[in-house]
Amino acid sequence: MAKQVVIDQDECLGCEVCVELCPDIFGFNADDAKAYVIDADSTDAACIEESIASCPGECISYE
Ligand code: SF4
Repeated sequence: MAKQVVIDQDECLGCEVCVELCPDIFGFNADDAKAYVIDADSTDAACIEESIASCPGECISYE
């Protein structure tokens, strides 16, 4: 099965770093100040891994 990008929204701090790094993959919901996944099937592993490394909430997974 292909890898999927997931955000644990309970842990998201709403910093928008992932949205700035990969705007095609992550979006931001201003209503609850949490990021969400736009493209869970993205194959842009470099961008996803950079987001994971930069996420202060450690709440992005790719597996
Ligand atoms: S980088 Fe992490 S904590 Fe920041 S908005 Fe994205 S998922 Fe949330």
